[in-house]
Amino acid sequence: MAGTAALVLALVFVALGLAVVVGRIAAAIRVDQDARERGFSRLASLGWAMTAVVYPAGYWWQARLERLSASEANGLLQSAAQAHRLVSVVNVRCPLCDAEMVNALAVTASGALAIRRLAHCPRCDFRLDACRHCGNFLPAEDGISGQKDFTYGRCKLYRAAQPVREAYPNVAKRLEAMGYDTMKAPKRIVDSYVPLDECTGFALDEARLKVSRIRWLSRQRTALIRLSAKHPVVQP
Ligand SMILES: [Zn+2]
Repeated sequence: MAGTAALVLALVFVALGLAVVVGRIAAAIRVDQDARERGFSRLASLGWAMTAVVYPAGYWWQARLERLSASEANGLLQSAAQAHRLVSVVNVRCPLCDAEMVNALAVTASGALAIRRLAHCPRCDFRLDACRHCGNFLPAEDGISGQKDFTYGRCKLYRAAQPVREAYPNVAKRLEAMGYDTMKAPKRIVDSYVPLDECTGFALDEARLKVSRIRWLSRQRTALIRLSAKHPVVQP
């Protein structure tokens, strides 16, 4: 009986393995056909098909988007936005009140996701370009457990002369004994939703943005935003 069970198990694994292989080959054939229809050379189509065996998104979400016509691109952008209850792929639903923030997202010259300056919710004022979503923000540390408190902190980009008791409380006594009453230190961020008035150095940290429950952050989304920059549609 044990031998029969082992044989059945082995057959199940073989069948599953075959199903995966067949699936990958089918995906590669689809890519090859589509690439040729899109005008890629025979060799390039074959290359994309082979890549698709391990990484199909490389073709569907990169190379293919470059070859879409304006009407195809607009159709794709519209249906993708609608699937996420948005008018455009560059808009964002406010995680606090669900209002739609228009034209909030962009891509940098290097193709990375970016937040537009002063991107905020029209209903509750929630800011996407808030310090808590920025890589330059240093969250406060809870003195007891060492945990980070993201509600306030400091900015490592902007510095100003400050009393050492405020800037470096842990070593203030030693610094004062050495004759330093004030020192240049990262500026205080009183409320991590409100950037410094002079701030022009917001640097998106996507992981921090996800913590604020901003939905639909993915490579595909960034690819669609890049596509929308190529085929801009004026929003009402
Ligand atoms: Zn809101």
